[in-house]
Amino acid sequence: MTDTTPAAAVFAVHSPATGAPIAEHPVDGPEEVSRAVARARTAQEKWAALPAARRRDHLLRWKKALATDLDAMAGVIAEETGKPAGDAALEVVLTLEHLAWAARNAGRVLRRRTVGAGLFAVHQRASLVHRPLGVVGVIGPWNYPLYTPMGSLGYALAAGNAVVFKPSELTPGTGVLLARIFDRAVPEHAGLLTTVTGPASTGDALARSGVDKLAFTGSPGTARTVMETCARTLTPFLAECGGKDAVIVTADADLEAAADAIVWGALSNAGQTCAGVERVYAVREVHAALCERVVERAGALRVGDAADSAYGPMTLPAQVAVVERHVTGALAEGARALLGGPGSVNTPYVSPVVLTDVPEDAAAMTEETFGPVVVVNAVADVDEAVERANASRYALGAAVFCGSGRAGAAIAARLRAGAVSVNSVLGFAAVPALPFGGARESGFGRIHGEEGLRAFSSVQSMTVQRFAPPIALTSFAVPEATRERAVRLARFLHRRR
Ligand code: NAD
Repeated sequence: MTDTTPAAAVFAVHSPATGAPIAEHPVDGPEEVSRAVARARTAQEKWAALPAARRRDHLLRWKKALATDLDAMAGVIAEETGKPAGDAALEVVLTLEHLAWAARNAGRVLRRRTVGAGLFAVHQRASLVHRPLGVVGVIGPWNYPLYTPMGSLGYALAAGNAVVFKPSELTPGTGVLLARIFDRAVPEHAGLLTTVTGPASTGDALARSGVDKLAFTGSPGTARTVMETCARTLTPFLAECGGKDAVIVTADADLEAAADAIVWGALSNAGQTCAGVERVYAVREVHAALCERVVERAGALRVGDAADSAYGPMTLPAQVAVVERHVTGALAEGARALLGGPGSVNTPYVSPVVLTDVPEDAAAMTEETFGPVVVVNAVADVDEAVERANASRYALGAAVFCGSGRAGAAIAARLRAGAVSVNSVLGFAAVPALPFGGARESGFGRIHGEEGLRAFSSVQSMTVQRFAPPIALTSFAVPEATRERAVRLARFLHRRR
């Protein structure tokens, strides 16, 4: 008998380096996504009923399993993104740090706490508690396919939720392995984390599936589309989008350290880092010396798929055209290439490009390049640097290099970015207690830290009446004279100061 069951649709993932097929994954549609959400809902009830300490222990077991399977996980990340094996291993390490922090701190951050009740409610004991939302949908990007979505899903699980995860269609294997390791490490809660695979349509199905919050990481354009879908059902939405991060270099900065950090921040992962360095503003006195050091370091990097390569191919083939447009556009508008240029593009690889004198309105300064290109422009002083850094429509990360940490922190405080490092780049990314997120085109809401746990909870406020109130105001039986006395008292108290 012929089998008439239609074959499930699949999509293939290809190596960004060679184009060779790596694996096939199912295209999950609305039905599969709904089933995953329903299964997650059942698993979440059991999970939420556990004491916080038990959830912590389970998550730490998962962390231990991820650490044990570090090589396998890093292998899939490296294969799917094309990044060097060492970078992929570091991505797993960073993820473990975050998962450990979320697991260990969720109980403390989210537990019930009492608050002062105030003069007119002295008879009440007031408290609040952060409760899980239910099922959280997570839509992830491809550039850090483990670390980035874990900023949402690890914290959401720690806060007592279940998660349905839709990884990027370029890196589904990372998501599939992540959920498989969870099920193996915590079999009694299998189904708490489910990975669904597919392109935009799968993400769209997740946004329509009735999840209790959707945490999105990706480009601002897609964020708008997904947010519109979520708006129809008032599904809460969190957006972690792109960046155009600036670095400010003052006259007394350690130029060797600044150049070293700028080159790494701009070029590691082939520049495909949301909070990577894209713009540098150096005060004029040190601009030339800084450029010299940046060019020397960037020029010495090896690019390719060899074991000692500093970075690999562009993961998203279409991004190469964006990089080319930004570089040629900047040069046509009067910029100078200090290293590389349009000829640096040798698809799928792009060698480092260092530009200077780029007009502030060039695409290379206003749009996210997401490639191994860094602009080092001169400014008259720190005020101009701050003004230019803040003029971007993005506001994600930033860095300041300054002779004194204290003076650097004062400059950092004037920046609009959601996270700033002084005398390092991306220093905040390795500190799980620090919230991460941006404003404007970089999105809104926070992952990581206490805010990142609270982002996946809903507050319930409670009052418990301890004794009959001295002045009862919430009753029709209150005598008029009592009400007047209360108003007189309030007026007296609030007029004093
Ligand atoms: P993208 O916007 O193309 O895709 C992101 C995800 O959304 C993918 O999983 C994709 O399948 C899904 N998607 C696409 N259309 C959808 C739709 N209509 N409905 C639902 N889901 C849909 O972004 P990308 O190219 O994967 O990632 C790169 C971007 O992510 C860059 O802008 C980068 O700066 C940003 N990023 C931000 C952070 C952060 O934490 N702020 C971290 C990493 C990457």
